[in-house]
Amino acid sequence: MTATVRFAPSPTGQIHIGNARTALFNALFARQRSGSFVLRLDDTDVARSREEYALGIIRDLEWLGIAPDRIERQSTRFAFYDEAAEKLKQAGLLYPCFETPEELDRRRKRRRARGLPPIYDRSALKLSDEQKAALEAEGRKPHWRFLLPNFESDPFKTRRSEITWSDLCRGEQSVDLASLSDPVLLREDGTYLYTLPSIVDDIDFAMTHVIRGEDHVANTAVQIAIFHALGATPPVFGHHNLLTTASGEGLSKRSGALSISALREAGYEPMTVASLAVLIGSSDAVEPMASLDALTAQFDLAHVSRAPARFDPADLDALNARLLREMPADRIAGRLIEMGVPADKVSALWDTVSGNIEKVSDVEGWWRIVSSQIEPDIAAEDREFLEEAARHLPEEPWDGETWKSWTGALKAATGRKGKGLFMPLRKALTGLEHGPELARLLPLIGRRNTLDRLV
Ligand code: GLU
Repeated sequence: MTATVRFAPSPTGQIHIGNARTALFNALFARQRSGSFVLRLDDTDVARSREEYALGIIRDLEWLGIAPDRIERQSTRFAFYDEAAEKLKQAGLLYPCFETPEELDRRRKRRRARGLPPIYDRSALKLSDEQKAALEAEGRKPHWRFLLPNFESDPFKTRRSEITWSDLCRGEQSVDLASLSDPVLLREDGTYLYTLPSIVDDIDFAMTHVIRGEDHVANTAVQIAIFHALGATPPVFGHHNLLTTASGEGLSKRSGALSISALREAGYEPMTVASLAVLIGSSDAVEPMASLDALTAQFDLAHVSRAPARFDPADLDALNARLLREMPADRIAGRLIEMGVPADKVSALWDTVSGNIEKVSDVEGWWRIVSSQIEPDIAAEDREFLEEAARHLPEEPWDGETWKSWTGALKAATGRKGKGLFMPLRKALTGLEHGPELARLLPLIGRRNTLDRLV
């Protein structure tokens, strides 16, 4: 079966790694089935939605390599939501209520005190047309509730009404509609809550699967009932676990440091972020996947754990370093050339330094060390040894064996060995006490630069 899926963020902030997880789950699910991945911008809240956030989300998805096949905006579709609301009203399934929040609160408390679940008692259904007209004449505006199908013929006599679905992540799920209040779909001011527009779009865009965070599990039974009320077959649902911060709090659009754009600016590779976002909180090991194809092959919603997954940004550093260590030079060549590395040196430089960096931008430092004048801090007691080293420096051409023959000769001439032999050379040639193998660095530095650094 092919698949049409959607990622449906509200453009009210930047998306973070937890949102990217949902987006990737959907995009990879579609890829596995040669399906289609829709970005649906849930921008019905016109006051809080911003174009700059919408564009930011599109850019973030592109950066992750999962540009959507289609983009839809809810703000252009109010006519369809109104049509669906009208249809439900005509069928008597969407009814006006006039209670104020304070009144509802009082009633909930009273029910609790009597040992009853704090469910809305449907008293608005008892209002006559005259009573409604009188309330409206007073200036009261109704909010509208969906009448849940949890009764046989009398809505005041609810009965057990199980809605079940087979969740792609959580297995068999079942919710009794008699345990829920009729959900509000339209507010007093005529604006829609998220529920109805989402369902109308899922129907109109022919979504086959809805994959989203488990914060939506509680809504699903209600949504399934509304799909049926609108004469549609509900999609297959999957609710994945959520990511929390290292200290266990939920991620929010305000956790700016974990936004995808902040991670991009910090220099992480898209595949590092994608690998972690997808594999964390699952039974699969978190490995750096070299490509989205590899990640697609690995990904399985059934492997997602039930417990929330803690996301520690420090894990990104180690994963990024591993990804780079395993990345072939041809995948990175263009970026190194842009950095100023000559095309004929790219491959040798990358093979030399890729095991010693955390970010691609770290290559720049190594290229500077290799190619430009450096002023190493040479200890007085090493001076003589380094002059001796200069005298034994082999003639060019140099290759991977040059280091061995040079230090071999030097060892014989000075009696130095181990650290006493290598460390002064490393410090003189790179200005640092650690770094990539000198045997590989030496041909990149070249004879002239080497001589300059030794004496
Ligand atoms: N805009 C909703 C959210 O971000 C979409 C939920 C859904 O996928 O149905 O929570």
